[in-house]
Amino acid sequence: MENIDDVVQLLSNFIRINTTNPPGNEEEGVLFLEDILLKAGLPTEVYSPAPKRANLLSRIKGKKRGKAMVLLGHIDVVPARAEEWDVDPFGGEIKDGYIYGRGTIDMKGQVICQLIAFIDLFRRGVEPERDIIFLATCDEETGGKNGVEFMLNEVKELKDVSFVLSEGGFIIKEGESIHGQVSVSEKMLSQFMIRATGTGGHGSKPHKDNANEKVVEAAHRILNHKWPIKNTAIVNAYMNGIFRDKTVAGMKYKTLKEAMGNKKFVEFIDGDPLYNALLRNTVTLTVIRGGEKVNVIPTEAQAYFDARLLPGEKHETFFKRIRSLAGKGVEVLPLKEGLSHTALSGYNSKPFKGIKDAVIKTWGRIPVLPFITTGATDLRYFRKHGITAYGFFPIVVTNDDLMRMHGKNERISIENLREGVEGIKGILDFLASYDPL
Ligand SMILES: [Zn+2]
Repeated sequence: MENIDDVVQLLSNFIRINTTNPPGNEEEGVLFLEDILLKAGLPTEVYSPAPKRANLLSRIKGKKRGKAMVLLGHIDVVPARAEEWDVDPFGGEIKDGYIYGRGTIDMKGQVICQLIAFIDLFRRGVEPERDIIFLATCDEETGGKNGVEFMLNEVKELKDVSFVLSEGGFIIKEGESIHGQVSVSEKMLSQFMIRATGTGGHGSKPHKDNANEKVVEAAHRILNHKWPIKNTAIVNAYMNGIFRDKTVAGMKYKTLKEAMGNKKFVEFIDGDPLYNALLRNTVTLTVIRGGEKVNVIPTEAQAYFDARLLPGEKHETFFKRIRSLAGKGVEVLPLKEGLSHTALSGYNSKPFKGIKDAVIKTWGRIPVLPFITTGATDLRYFRKHGITAYGFFPIVVTNDDLMRMHGKNERISIENLREGVEGIKGILDFLASYDPL
């Protein structure tokens, strides 16, 4: 087995390669990973969609052609505001049993664990039933155009693989309770902006045609709308798996359907950002623009909203609602790049059971449940082609740990890295033995 200190150092070095997207600059990250694969004796292919952007593919040949299995990971990260962090977000600092840095959880840590497990499978001389592909992509954080979308067009084989593993779920520990979440779908992006124009003027003489005030009032109506709680099949299975026969919000939980009728339970959902997002469409005000000077009434104002819809919802119905909430006086404009489709992978499948068995081997008989990722991931591109694609990183974290993702002081523990490598090895052992046909 590889030395954990080496894995820690590898991730620390990888964090130091700044792949903040935009602009990305993932090429350096690809060369870093390629070097490790080549030294291990594995073949590599680099695909470059644009200057300084790159995607990397490596392969362990299987007994039969076609229907490969893919370990997918993106190597770009979201921006980090260094002044808010206690450490340099791109310093790869190791302290108190953690590696700190932008991307440690999302998702350079998982990429390194997948790389180590992939190389380990190759070194052990395992010949899988089907090819196993290691795929590291760029551009996930701004939508995947140069990354997965580009690769699906460039390497036709990827549209016909049988399984993809990437990010989206973890093993969650809250107090005594522990469960695995294997993401089989994700919420649908439905981002939009509202815009108002008005008459300018001096701040000392207010009037009723103020662009800022129109946007603020419309935003207020949109944000005050309470979206109904909806019981979708996956979330039903997920929440029943966690809560059945436990005491939740002072009540004995039997089924989600029954709990939804309880006022206390609904209050509990309202107060929990994750469960709220799993059970409702959400609309978040993220950007406000209007005015430049304190004594000048601006002639235009805008507000941007990040909205995420439950599987099965329709953009048209949603925007009809938003337009009626916004009322007259503002325009509602869906953002072209901010709309996504949704598809789900079944969870009554052999890969789901394979992952479950691998988890149980390490952590005992904990529930391993289907889950919906509230954010968007590259897996949606594969699901659209009907490919079974799961988001899962087998490390034990709290929901609190996950709040650091896209936030400040993102970190992963050394213990998590050890778990990640071992867990993915277990999943790879299953994938190597699995013939989808
Ligand atoms: Zn990610």
